[in-house]
Amino acid sequence: MIYDVAIIGAGPAGLSAGLYAARAKLSTVIVEKMFPGGQAAITYRIENYPGFAEGVGGADLADAIKTQAESFGAEFLNGDVEKIEKKDDKFIIYMKGESLEAKSVILATGAQPRKVGVKGEKEFTGKGVSYCATCDGAFYSNKPIVIVGGGDTAIEEALYLTRFASSIYVIHRRDELRATKILQERAFNNDKIKFIWDSVLHEIEGKDTVEEVVVKNVKTGKLSSVSVDGVFIAIGYTPNTDFVKDLVQLDEQGYIVTDEHMKTQVPGLFAAGDIRKKSLRQVVTAVADGAIAAVEAGKFIEEQ
Ligand code: NAP
Repeated sequence: MIYDVAIIGAGPAGLSAGLYAARAKLSTVIVEKMFPGGQAAITYRIENYPGFAEGVGGADLADAIKTQAESFGAEFLNGDVEKIEKKDDKFIIYMKGESLEAKSVILATGAQPRKVGVKGEKEFTGKGVSYCATCDGAFYSNKPIVIVGGGDTAIEEALYLTRFASSIYVIHRRDELRATKILQERAFNNDKIKFIWDSVLHEIEGKDTVEEVVVKNVKTGKLSSVSVDGVFIAIGYTPNTDFVKDLVQLDEQGYIVTDEHMKTQVPGLFAAGDIRKKSLRQVVTAVADGAIAAVEAGKFIEEQ
């Protein structure tokens, strides 16, 4: 069978694309290697998705969109896509041990947390180093931790972690935060959160698990140690585009370049959500991208 639309990735963009494509009576498959919802699924509470005045759990929102897409006939497939090829008028999607064919493809594999690249980071991942406060915060009940980063993710995670940790040091490379003002205010007003300004993580140390971090002041070059049990890293994201780097145009940071119709330069190949070069990466923009990509995929198939 050749699907009308194959969607790679079941985050908000992929799920929304699946919903729109299936509802338009296109045969639709969504391929995901982990769980539906992507980064939204590991977000404790989303406060800025329209329609939820009290906020909404990221996993709940993702489950609801998945159910909605399934109700219109979208199929879900567990698979890790390694390569996509365009042959004549169809795309072949290669996964470990299997492949499928589709007339159009929507890439929606999002992005993954960026690594700092310091000594100890890799060794202690899962043993005190984490990239997800919602997943691992509860391990640090009454323990001191650090968070690296000064953006929305870092500050949102710092605030979330105040419910567990005894104290939270935010290590930021400048002396002012990138995070939105409302998050900044909440963090500055929280006694548990302290800031280590103009500093970067230099090394993570410990025996079996993390025991301390060495921090470097970027202005003075001075090194200092902070005893902590956990290190949360939130310094932005790297797009998951490695598997298509020979197929589509990427920008210098690896994001896929599309036009406003979510079209890449390959006819029939679309991209949606955080994987795309764009100015605002949010659930609300991801679901919008997904809807546009699905409608455009439908038009593409009709024109063929
Ligand atoms: P981000 O906005 O790119 O911020 C990354 C932070 O990490 C910045 O403070 C940056 O410092 C710092 N950083 C980057 N590379 C570093 C390095 N190598 N060493 C040390 N520090 C480094 O990433 P994000 O906070 O993950 O947010 C990603 C996107 O999601 C943003 O568009 C954000 O608005 C959005 N988001 C929104 C919400 C919300 O609306 N509630 C929640 C989470 C995320 P500089 O500031 O010096 O560059």
